[in-house]
Amino acid sequence: MNILVINCGSSSLKYQLISMENEKVLAKGLVERIGIEGSNLVQKVEGRDKYIITKPMNNHTEAVKLVLDSLIDKDHGVISSMDEISAVGHRVVHGGENYSKSVLINDDVLKSIEECSKLAPLHNPANIIGINACKDLMPNVPMVAVFDTAFHQTMPDYAYMYALPYELYSKYSIRKYGFHGTSHRYVSKEAAKMLSKDISELKIITCHIGNGCSVAAIKNGKCIDTSMGFTPLEGVAMGTRSGNIDPAVVTFLIKEAKLSVDEVENLLNKKSGVYGISGVSSDFRDIKKAAFQEGNKRAELAVNLFNYRIKQYIGSYAAAMGGVDCIVFTAGIGENSAVTREGICEGLEFLGAELDKVKNDAATDAEYISVEGSKVKILVIPTDEELMIARDTKEITLA
Ligand code: ADP
Repeated sequence: MNILVINCGSSSLKYQLISMENEKVLAKGLVERIGIEGSNLVQKVEGRDKYIITKPMNNHTEAVKLVLDSLIDKDHGVISSMDEISAVGHRVVHGGENYSKSVLINDDVLKSIEECSKLAPLHNPANIIGINACKDLMPNVPMVAVFDTAFHQTMPDYAYMYALPYELYSKYSIRKYGFHGTSHRYVSKEAAKMLSKDISELKIITCHIGNGCSVAAIKNGKCIDTSMGFTPLEGVAMGTRSGNIDPAVVTFLIKEAKLSVDEVENLLNKKSGVYGISGVSSDFRDIKKAAFQEGNKRAELAVNLFNYRIKQYIGSYAAAMGGVDCIVFTAGIGENSAVTREGICEGLEFLGAELDKVKNDAATDAEYISVEGSKVKILVIPTDEELMIARDTKEITLA
């Protein structure tokens, strides 16, 4: 059984074709600049040269058509016909309060994804376009929607509500939703496997630290809190996003600094975080170089602030769960930056979390980085949202 996983953005489309017998990625690729001049597709198959096609693609249907053509291409493809695709799994960013699990897509589901567009205006419309493009070209292939928000729907009301007038929740659905749910769910399940424990017995804190960053508290397999909120702007500091600030800063910037609403939104999303503090870059590799090799004080401050905010969430979630058995690091920075993991774990010994510096420096794959006998296990686990989407798609379409 082969499953096509699609992650559709406004002008890009990422895909993977996964064989579910051995969970092997047969091919993966990226289409960029859809509807813009210079559109192209790059497909990668293990052991082969990249397959690159540069040709105009006016819309997502044309992009999906090119993906399918590339997968069945006589010389560069990996399957002989479209019939070898059993199902399609779509990443959908926002499922609102309607979805706490992945779901088979039908007209009603499409309608409710559309309703959630007001909560994710940059993402859901693109996801819907991707679904419709696949529907046009593969009308008889079942499709599943896997939501970034679904895993966090188990948060209790006192965790997801903001202390704002209640009517804002009833009228505008303003509450915490959380994001990166597919990643938090995947790595927490993998952590339970590595610990040889049932996830229903564990208290896990997962730190997804990439361009976007979020921390989640997962008690007995259920998310009870997460750092991102109504939008992915809340929580820890990120590459270019501010994370938590005093909300009064927003009104101050409008009233005193005379910024427009759009300028404030842009400042908080694109000009803040470690980029805003350091003035160097949003990429941790550049910031680390500036901080540790060039003695750049603002870069050092950015690193310290970044680590401190994540540490705060770990402490807070240990309190929220009444303890913690395991801390997991994942995503671009979490998987690759030993110095960041060390900075975050420094001082967490009081919780029983003791980092093994040698193991931490050497970690390259899913592994333990805590010392033998550490009460709280610390793990690095590469995330794999596409595989999680494919697993859900298989389970739902075979049910
Ligand atoms: P996204 O949130 O876009 O999926 P990723 O999880 O791929 O992002 O993370 C991307 C980030 O990971 C980059 O911005 C970079 O800062 C960081 N990163 C990747 N490799 C390293 C490394 N070796 N050391 C430090 N940071 C790294």
